Amino acid sequence: MLDKKRIKKMLIKFLGGVREVGRSAIYLADEGKCFLLDAGVMLSGREVKYPMHIPPREVDEIIITHAHLDHVGAAPIFFIGLGRRSFLTTLTAPLAKLILLDFIRVSKGALPFEILEVDKFVEKSEKLNYHQEASKNGFKLTFLPAGHAPGGGQVMLEFKGRRILYTGDINTVETTLLKGAFTDYPPIDIAIVESTYANKNHPVREDIEKEFVEKLEEVVERKGIALVPAFGIGRSQEVITILAKYSFPYEVYYDGMARTVTQILLDFPEWLSNPSLLEKAAGEVIWINTQRQRESALKNPGVIVTPAGMLQGGPVNFYLKKVGDSKKNLIAFVSYQVDGTPGRLLLEKGVTTVDGKLVRVKSEIKHFELSSHSGKSQLEALIKKINADTTFIVHGESENCERLAEYARRVLGLKAFAPKLGESYTV
Ligand SMILES: [Zn+2]
Ligand SMILES: [Zn+2]
Repeated sequence: MLDKKRIKKMLIKFLGGVREVGRSAIYLADEGKCFLLDAGVMLSGREVKYPMHIPPREVDEIIITHAHLDHVGAAPIFFIGLGRRSFLTTLTAPLAKLILLDFIRVSKGALPFEILEVDKFVEKSEKLNYHQEASKNGFKLTFLPAGHAPGGGQVMLEFKGRRILYTGDINTVETTLLKGAFTDYPPIDIAIVESTYANKNHPVREDIEKEFVEKLEEVVERKGIALVPAFGIGRSQEVITILAKYSFPYEVYYDGMARTVTQILLDFPEWLSNPSLLEKAAGEVIWINTQRQRESALKNPGVIVTPAGMLQGGPVNFYLKKVGDSKKNLIAFVSYQVDGTPGRLLLEKGVTTVDGKLVRVKSEIKHFELSSHSGKSQLEALIKKINADTTFIVHGESENCERLAEYARRVLGLKAFAPKLGESYTV
């Protein structure tokens, strides 16, 4: 039991990732200690947006939920000229390093940190397995499986007599890559919950998987190319495991960071829902390593799985020019497209930007809801299960944050808030 006598008020300040998806950062402090939960960036066009400023010296412990840039992209800033400790899961650590080094490479000197800071951040971090407790002076920290990205964890922090749960990005449903999130929580006092899909229920996963595979078969059979823009960490591996599960009979090309990520994941089989399926998939795809291979992938009907998931750079832009130019081809989105990204623009308007130029796309465009975030009723069930005295709703477009907070207040009778950027609460 937590010692309720030691309860003291603490401050929670939302520095980013509220009423928006991107640059997640939550500052949690009392007079003795300050935590930062996530330190992400938002990529909108070519611009990188950071969380609101907080002097790095005012942060004692940095806790990162998972290796997506909207949660980890700003973390190295806190290591410029400073040594400090951070907490990650054992699998998030190598993935975070990979994605941050790639971020530096594609940003060509435009970031405020370098390889040195990434090294300091990842190498000196304390790496935990799921359910493994780090017990330090004054606080206890545990990562619980979040079901969203490989290695990704919900943060459970016990501090000053209170138990705080931050879901990070969460998916309660099992996929071909990951088990669903762990939700057998102990009593929680303060919860911070994401709301990406608070407005929408997802169709049954198996149905979408089948629809996806059938559509790709149809495209290849009409001699087209199906381009699947997918995040290098998580989504790309899920796509190839789905294709392996249904014994997809045609060629699948696999490009970008996803290759290295797959190799890392195969070293962590116990973190996956079906490691042998990933191994099968990795053995079946055609790995793309060079520009010449990219060109030859475009010569034949087939499927190309490549980053970036929202068309914000990476090899997908090379493929897009050719694939987008013919009606027999397909661009198949498989993840949430953040407002303002080239992917969202393409989905809504049929145009996108390639190398800074606006291009009209002739190919078929489809979105498959293979989401790695819980849907509406799953989020509602989740906050009911957490049942915290105070609940903050984050990581969603404004109306989704408000909608879920309103549900928590009206239906569940909880104290629930949809904080605005920069808002502080004393709890
Ligand atoms: Zn994520
Ligand atoms: Zn996120």
